[in-house]
Amino acid sequence: MKHSYQLLVVLLLPFIFQFLTSKADDLVYETFLNCMSSRNSSDHVSSLIYNPKNSSYTSTLQAYIRNQRFNKSTTPKPIIIVTPLYESHVQSTIICSKNMGMNLRIRSGGHDFEGLSYVSYTNFVLLDMSNFRSIDVNIEEETAMVQVGAIIGELYYRIWEKSKVHAFPAGVCPTVGIGGGGASFGVILSYKLQLVRVPEMVTVFRVVKTSEENVTDIFNRWQYVAEKMDNDLFIRLNLKPDHVNKTIRASFTAFFLGDSDHLVTVMDKEFPELGVKKNDCKEMSWIKSVLFWSSDDKAPLETLLIRSPSAKFAKRKSDYLQIPIPKNGIESIMQKMLELSVVGLAINPYGGRMSEIADWETPFPHRAGNIFKIEYSVNWDEGGPDIEAYYVNQTRQFYDFMTPFVSKNPREAYLNYRDLDIGTSGVGNNSYAEGKVYGQKYFKGNFERLVKVKTMVDPGDFFTNEQSIPVLKN
Ligand SMILES: Cc1cc2nc3c(=O)[nH]c(=O)nc-3n(C[C@H](O)[C@H](O)[C@H](O)COP(=O)(O)OP(=O)(O)OC[C@H]3O[C@@H](n4cnc5c(N)ncnc54)[C@H](O)[C@@H]3O)c2cc1C
Repeated sequence: MKHSYQLLVVLLLPFIFQFLTSKADDLVYETFLNCMSSRNSSDHVSSLIYNPKNSSYTSTLQAYIRNQRFNKSTTPKPIIIVTPLYESHVQSTIICSKNMGMNLRIRSGGHDFEGLSYVSYTNFVLLDMSNFRSIDVNIEEETAMVQVGAIIGELYYRIWEKSKVHAFPAGVCPTVGIGGGGASFGVILSYKLQLVRVPEMVTVFRVVKTSEENVTDIFNRWQYVAEKMDNDLFIRLNLKPDHVNKTIRASFTAFFLGDSDHLVTVMDKEFPELGVKKNDCKEMSWIKSVLFWSSDDKAPLETLLIRSPSAKFAKRKSDYLQIPIPKNGIESIMQKMLELSVVGLAINPYGGRMSEIADWETPFPHRAGNIFKIEYSVNWDEGGPDIEAYYVNQTRQFYDFMTPFVSKNPREAYLNYRDLDIGTSGVGNNSYAEGKVYGQKYFKGNFERLVKVKTMVDPGDFFTNEQSIPVLKN
């Protein structure tokens, strides 16, 4: 009798635990709601706050998850999601989360490659900024006021509506948020952007070469010219293994602020090895060139307004180079790509305007002296722990293989290609020593200044995540 009673208790334990957890979560929700209501008396703030029992909770959470690796049943979920409409909602979300000892994650476009904007391993509130999305373009001033929930495709489109000779160079993928970043210091609400002038017609090309077409020599030459060529020309190099033909496909994609005759003249002079002809070039408006880069220039412009791409599983890593890779190194890299099979490389030249800004002028430190940045890129469609381990390990192996060719002390990294492999620190208790490991890779010498600012503005380390700027403790 005693044994069967014990067995019953053991069997019921998970249900009792679940019941108590659910009651505790209800209490957290009610307390949070009361706190928010007391601070926002005039509007119906409760309709902007979701807990897991709310029928829109899951769709609200998933709407801006851009990496399926962080969309599993086992991924930690927020206790509460807030979708603010006004600044006062943002302020009260910060105050109420802080009062209740909960971590806050801030999400604008949701493209963080490690999901830091919507995943935390401690109890957390998700502040989803997607309602903050107004864009006000002022052509007289050549500026735009853009709220953080706007995506870059929307910004490009709204500029084009008002002017065919203005633009803003922010990125290739149209669904990326205009506002990612700054999460160590507070919540950014909007940016005032300085627009740039573009000609009515720009020129693009995409020329593909394979291993059999002398790709080693072309890549080698590209390293020496891409960052120094005409400042109006940008040529990205993508390398991909082609297993069917056992070759590497190298795509050279270009954007030029001028016409095709001028571009061919520049290419003949500076980079004849690529053999670009006038019929490789396409002249088009700047806005069409955005579509050319992201998908297809024949797609309707309204494609730029689509906020719901089909998200894949993804892993990214990054590197910077200050010295060209020797030719035998290029060959070994291509060999390794074929051997490992799934890693692709997107290589962006630096130089130009990037080099004109001093290292210390903004937190972003990768300026003069860098010839290019490499993005190690793997995307896949199917979930499962073994599949994920296979793809993620491929990026890690490739990254290890690249060590002799890339920047050292520190091995620099690009913050936007967030990579937790390069170091993490405890959430809410970031240590300076741990923070320095990833902080110097992302920010080089600016890391120490960022620590000073952080220590002044957020000494309690409320705005914290696995890779935030640490507070200096005495
Ligand atoms: C499919 C895809 C394509 C991409 N394409 C490009 C590209 O073409 N060029 C490029 O440079 N990068 C690209 N990226 C990387 C992208 O630029 C970064 O991930 C960027 O941080 C995304 O900003 P977000 O607002 O979309 O992301 P979020 O995930 O919302 O935010 C990223 C980080 O910023 C913080 N944050 C967000 N909003 C705020 C706020 N309002 N105040 C303070 N902190 C905030 C978050 O907490 C998080 O730490 C791409 C990423 C993906 C997944």
